[in-house]
Amino acid sequence: MAFPKESVEEVRARTDIAALIGQTVALKRNGSALVGLCPFHNEKSPSFNVIPHKGFFHCFGCGTSGDAITFVMKTRGLTFVEAVKDLAQAAGVTLPERDLTPEEKARATARQDLYTVCESACALFVKTLLVLPEGKPGRDYLEKRGVTTETAQKYRIGFAPDGWDRLDRHLRTQRIPPQLGVQAGLLKRRETRGPGDEGVYDVFRNRLIFPILDDRDRPIAFGGRLLPDPPGAPPGKDPGPKYLNSPESPIYKKGEVLYGLSWARAQAQRKGRLILVEGYFDAVSLWQAGFGEAVATCGTALTERHVERIQSHTRKVYALFDSDAAGLRAAQKSLPLLQAAQISAFRLDLGASKDPDEYIQRNGAAAFETLLGAGEDLIQMVVRRIVEEEGRDSAAKDRVLNRAVEFLRDLPSVGVRETATLYVAGLLNLRADEVRARAFPSGGRSIESAESARTPAPERWVPPKELSHLLWALIRRPQDVWPLLANIDPDWICEREDVLAAMHRLGTGAPFADVVGDLDTTAPDLARTLRAIAAIEGTIKEEDAIITATDVILRMERTAVEAKIREQSAMIAACGKSGDKSSYRDNLIALSGLNARRQEINAALSRLPRPSRPLRDT
Ligand SMILES: [Zn+2]
Repeated sequence: MAFPKESVEEVRARTDIAALIGQTVALKRNGSALVGLCPFHNEKSPSFNVIPHKGFFHCFGCGTSGDAITFVMKTRGLTFVEAVKDLAQAAGVTLPERDLTPEEKARATARQDLYTVCESACALFVKTLLVLPEGKPGRDYLEKRGVTTETAQKYRIGFAPDGWDRLDRHLRTQRIPPQLGVQAGLLKRRETRGPGDEGVYDVFRNRLIFPILDDRDRPIAFGGRLLPDPPGAPPGKDPGPKYLNSPESPIYKKGEVLYGLSWARAQAQRKGRLILVEGYFDAVSLWQAGFGEAVATCGTALTERHVERIQSHTRKVYALFDSDAAGLRAAQKSLPLLQAAQISAFRLDLGASKDPDEYIQRNGAAAFETLLGAGEDLIQMVVRRIVEEEGRDSAAKDRVLNRAVEFLRDLPSVGVRETATLYVAGLLNLRADEVRARAFPSGGRSIESAESARTPAPERWVPPKELSHLLWALIRRPQDVWPLLANIDPDWICEREDVLAAMHRLGTGAPFADVVGDLDTTAPDLARTLRAIAAIEGTIKEEDAIITATDVILRMERTAVEAKIREQSAMIAACGKSGDKSSYRDNLIALSGLNARRQEINAALSRLPRPSRPLRDT
């Protein structure tokens, strides 16, 4: 659905962008602008600017910019239409509604009804936990687990008391028909006992309730944690599973929702990382310990859709995987998904603690932060575990190599594949070439690098000027520059796999000396070049690293966009000749999108401050 241009303009005009962004980012006045720490990349000194009188924001660190609508879309993961609707509501602007077809109307009403019943149930659960006498077991249990009332209120935790019809009665008083409760998975039908008996009962009984919210903070499903029976309760009745979750419904798809994301996204953007946990309690107790960037999958394995949701907030994920065979399988399944989205993944090892909640209770928040710092790269973990399972003797070597090679082939990114190849080679005491030859016997670029290792390497590799500036910035400020690279296509940067692999290692925290030291044997030309670039250090101000990298990345993207523009123009010319009107139109639309992007890039480049001293070429 599209809104008239005037309505969108009115929403923009009536939205106070400084107040809006001020809810997420602490802003300070600086001339006519307001500045703060960018919510879209991890930084220590503020480069995020809001220009209220012009109604836009811009970050000099990562280049993200936009207006109030873009800000809401990016920080809350909403579509354009959803963001406009939300802002319109907040600003008191009435948007004209397009006439819906009867079918669309029916679907919208059905969804709306489900939102209503979930919201009403959520309100009852919360009220029960916070104030009603029958909420006492829930309150006692939360207190025992060390969850404060403030936390419970933030996460809208509730309680469903033991009994068969508490929610049923509540929904009736709200004139919500029982069949809606059934559709939402909150009530269940039973055999009717006679006329007039609706025959439903509450699904959640004697359970602490964690509502699962959508992007617009509406409850769409619930997870219920069974409370232990009070002492002296009669034995015998089956209380059901420890955790009970709502079934899927037209408004709830398990594989698309991450529990806690609506609270975690701001922190995830600020800290540049997301912690992926298994349970509701884990996410809640991590928030309470100061780790607001935690979310939980709702009882499913990580899906592609989950990864998409994560990708719009951060490119670094810490995940818990058990150290058993099942944990290894899960990690091996998740890795290609994360890699395809250019998300680096690390494994959190809780040692003897069974979950983060227990870990923090035992060791405290500071220890948990240290644990995050020591998180093992997931690729390394998979390779290491394969070696551990098969053994290190010479007979096992072949089996390990077979399994490792299978795993390497699944990795979608060449840079990551190269890093993983080096791990495998290191762990098996093999040359990287041998592993490559086995893993990619006929793969074009992989063969090339294997061959280039055999032919004598040139004295020094001379990268294009832009790439050498980017490498300088990455060496100088890996923690700031690596996140900027996460969003761009590796093909824009360089064709040499070993360069990408070295950049990946530098960006993910490997010390410069180690990276270059390893390259001395595999690619001495590259090692020499990197040392030369690193030596420029000292002639330029370090703060200029980000500006330089942003500048180079924008230029690299512009080159790629311009190539696409030429390609698209050629296709349009071809369509014109063949008279294919529909592809002609599609190509025109694509072309105008590309032209718009080129303009944005040029505008962003012209807004970039110049580095205080220009970088001299290497
Ligand atoms: Zn930024």
